[in-house]
Amino acid sequence: MNLQEYKEAVEKLNLYSHHYYVLDDPITTDEVYDKLYHEVVEYEQNNKDDVLKNSPTMRVGDVVRDGFTKASHLTRMWSLEDVFDAEGLQKWLTKTYKLDKNISFYCEPKFDGASLNLIYENGELVQGITRGDGEIGELITQNVKTIKTVPLIIEYDERIEIRGEVVIFKEEFEKINEARMKDGEAVFANPRNAAAGSLRQLDSSVTASRNLVFLPYGVGENLLEHKLLSDKMEFIYSLGFRKPPQSSTCKDFAEIEDIYEIMNRDRDSYSMMLDGMVVKVNEIASQIDMGYTVKNPRFSVAYKFPAVEKITTVKEIILQVGRTGAVTPVAIVEPTDIDGVVVERATLHNFDEIDRKDIRLNDKVIILRSGDVIPKIIKVLTHERDGSEVKYERPQSCPVCNSELLDEGVLLKCQNLTCEARVINSIIYFASKPCLNIDGLGNKIVEALFNSGLVKSVVDLFDLTLDKLLALEGFKEKKSQNLLNSLEDAKGSEYWRFLNSLGIEHVGEVASKTLSEKFGSNFLHVSKEEIIACDGIGEEMAESVLEFVRVNKETILKLQDILKPLEPIQKAEAKENPFKGKTAVLTGTMSESRGAIKEMLEELGAKVSGSVSKKTDFLIYGEDAGSKYDKAISLHVECLTEQEMREKIE
Ligand code: NAD
Repeated sequence: MNLQEYKEAVEKLNLYSHHYYVLDDPITTDEVYDKLYHEVVEYEQNNKDDVLKNSPTMRVGDVVRDGFTKASHLTRMWSLEDVFDAEGLQKWLTKTYKLDKNISFYCEPKFDGASLNLIYENGELVQGITRGDGEIGELITQNVKTIKTVPLIIEYDERIEIRGEVVIFKEEFEKINEARMKDGEAVFANPRNAAAGSLRQLDSSVTASRNLVFLPYGVGENLLEHKLLSDKMEFIYSLGFRKPPQSSTCKDFAEIEDIYEIMNRDRDSYSMMLDGMVVKVNEIASQIDMGYTVKNPRFSVAYKFPAVEKITTVKEIILQVGRTGAVTPVAIVEPTDIDGVVVERATLHNFDEIDRKDIRLNDKVIILRSGDVIPKIIKVLTHERDGSEVKYERPQSCPVCNSELLDEGVLLKCQNLTCEARVINSIIYFASKPCLNIDGLGNKIVEALFNSGLVKSVVDLFDLTLDKLLALEGFKEKKSQNLLNSLEDAKGSEYWRFLNSLGIEHVGEVASKTLSEKFGSNFLHVSKEEIIACDGIGEEMAESVLEFVRVNKETILKLQDILKPLEPIQKAEAKENPFKGKTAVLTGTMSESRGAIKEMLEELGAKVSGSVSKKTDFLIYGEDAGSKYDKAISLHVECLTEQEMREKIE
């Protein structure tokens, strides 16, 4: 890097920061930012006289926006030095041990949100201030008061600054974006931007509607006398703040590495986004001796996780036709390594999303791959366009059977019931785990059976014979016999499995269980009113069931005759108890399997659901409860330990 390149890099970083901190709408990934930032650091170390005053290394990044009242922090807020691998950590440790040998460490997650300083006086929250430039931030007390995890009163009278990160849980983030999409508003790129944007609203009711969560990570001005940071933080949590899901003390490099590895491995199971782990010297006296650089404390470091966001290029948009005929666009992107996995495709959800994000072929985009979630495009880098980008035209006809598509705005649908893709996918669905669970009927085999002409619908599966299968290429005796055995085993299944396997639109496993428990095979003859009267079944589902039965009654009867699913046994009504008619969710490890506890609760007349929502009455948790517990707390759902549940039953 020469002087000119250095100046350009500073300018670029400042532009990136403006979009990131001021507009809450980044135009590049953290990875790109961090790489350029470190090149600038290196240049400045070797050319001390050239250092520009407006270099991002000279200041904490945020700015105070117009429209907000400014307020000073009582003591400065800081940024964090960062390292990206074990070597970086080792270097930081060597540097830190030079300042003090007798130290241990406190490790906690690095939450990806927005920093906030809370000032309490005489036990009362008096100010909430964003980090700003570290000395002066935006005064957002009214907004902060809407955050349920910020206590308005604490049992501590001295003046104290409590610092922490405001985050949005991942699920909440998805919901906010879905709602924004519906209203035609721009979506947030990630939970961090959503949290920062929601916190700095001129209208507090917007902040209140966003379910923000405050997680304390430290203190500013304080008169606390704890000798260890870990004790100080325990005291802070005891004042009514939310404890972060993971924090530990440790003594050396190897232990820090172990904690980091586990946290990185489990990062997706946390309710909130983490972008690393923060390592802090645990001894307060040593922290005070070590002090600060112009930007960071010397006694802590952010040990970043591998990036989950990368920049890539859209090469093509292909179309997939599902069993219901819905056509889903999928982006084929320049293969990109994200945390050890080569990503080549990204979901686009629907055609509206392509229009709304204005995704064009050849566009540079930011792609996110996090956990098991299918990679998705979170942002188009429109400022990088060079004219070679091509606008995407909505298809008019089905890419598989060529018939005309029904354009429903958000969705395009192939209406041809005999479309190969629809038939193949409905057979695959019929055989899948939450349906008839037929082993040996994976995608490839179903395609081979369909292409051979032997199987054109699920009913044909039951006409297969050993001779017919052996005549097909690639079907040896053992494989063929196994398939026939699995088909035989599918007979006499529970009724809900049969119902689910029919693939009625909007009717999934839970609704199939409800309908089959209530009506059994009689579901073919019930009215809309009777269906809607079932718990959790709405108008759209009821109409879908009736329409499906109207069109497919004969096939259903034929299949029922072949498969002879078991009629559900009508359960005796449960006696009165606190769980009767309530919805419960189970999480964590309990003294018995969750299946057994589910059965016990169902016998008491409770409904046991897989996910927490506003409708959940109880969360029953065992050891190592994870994100369901966090969500239940945020929704004010009553949480019971297994023991408390048993006591309630008694
Ligand atoms: P930072 O966010 O990397 O680290 C400091 C902050 O971490 C603290 O202020 C605090 O708010 C937060 N934090 C979370 N958990 C914490 C914990 N347990 N203990 C202490 N602090 C905790 O630093 P920064 O200066 O705010 O921002 C720099 C980073 O922002 C860069 O590394 C880059 O990744 C990103 N950035 C990205 C762009 C972009 O365009 N993508 C632009 C500017 C900055």
